[in-house]
Amino acid sequence: MAGSRFAYVRDFELPDPALPDVYLVVRIDGKGFHKFSAAHNFAKPNDAAALELMNCAARQVCSELRGDVVMAFGESDEYSFLLKKDCQLYRRRKTKITTHIVSLFTSSYVFSWPSYFPQTRLLQPPSFDGRLVEYPTAKHIRDYFAWRQADTHVNNLYNTTFWACVLRGGVTEREAHERLRGTVSAQKNEMLFSEFGINYEREEAMFRKGTTLVWTQEEANETTTQPAEDVHDGLVSSPKGSQQNKRKVKMKRRLRTLHVDIIGDAFWLEGTAALPA
Ligand code: ATP
Ligand code: ATP
Ligand code: MG
Ligand code: MG
Ligand code: MG
Ligand code: MG
Ligand code: MG
Repeated sequence: MAGSRFAYVRDFELPDPALPDVYLVVRIDGKGFHKFSAAHNFAKPNDAAALELMNCAARQVCSELRGDVVMAFGESDEYSFLLKKDCQLYRRRKTKITTHIVSLFTSSYVFSWPSYFPQTRLLQPPSFDGRLVEYPTAKHIRDYFAWRQADTHVNNLYNTTFWACVLRGGVTEREAHERLRGTVSAQKNEMLFSEFGINYEREEAMFRKGTTLVWTQEEANETTTQPAEDVHDGLVSSPKGSQQNKRKVKMKRRLRTLHVDIIGDAFWLEGTAALPA
């Protein structure tokens, strides 16, 4: 096989390694989900089950690639996965990494569909595209996730106001677009409150903040309601740090599902999301 006269075609496969020592972000996005969501009667503006299914598929990716995926952020029909700088998956070949994540995410989405939509038959096979971007510094990574969460906010505020106008205000979709054209956030907040009695800040955090998945290290004997993802032994030092004071404890890595602000400093300083080298 390797020595056949056909083997030269292999030389047409060009290498596509990611730069060494940079963060890698893979973002996947549903293809034609505007139509897909309509065909499957997703609630407007936000179908909670559809978002939970996205989160479930993303957790599957994080668990499968637990050594490489550091955190993930999702909104609407998209998810971003951050891979650590020294990730050696597929020897950093970009198409291999991207296609593996896209494929695993998609198959998990389909696999788990019945758990989230027990009454709705899947009418067509959903698909996702994917891209991989290299970022050199931790600042780029913070700004990347801030960019995605700011997008979540802008879209959700618009959509919440738009659908309030249509579903509660009885205007057509075209009229709702007209009303919202050129409005700033404060005007939409005011419209929601004064016309529809909606306090935007009280809308579900998952809708407003998207979903962040992040690994944490915890002592295994801590009581927790979520299942441990990964248990291993570790040495924990007492404050004095002497040899005798070191006790052996089971450490576990747990994948947490959060709906919190990741634009400000708090999330990054709490230790849950410190960027690894
Ligand atoms: P493309 O193939 O270019 O990505 P698209 O139709 O998927 O096109 P997007 O910009 O990705 O367009 O937007 C995704 C759309 O899917 C949203 O605008 C919304 O209509 C719909 N959607 C996704 N998730 C949900 C959800 N949880 N609830 C309701 N609608 C959703
Ligand atoms: P990698 O992740 O590196 O691709 P792999 O285990 O998928 O590793 P491949 O070189 O892709 O290895 O080979 C696929 C293997 O899957 C085959 O060697 C064979 O063992 C098994 N396989 C695939 N299709 C079939 C099939 N139709 N019947 C029996 N075995 C199969
Ligand atoms: Mg797209
Ligand atoms: Mg899409
Ligand atoms: Mg999208
Ligand atoms: Mg093969
Ligand atoms: Mg194979």
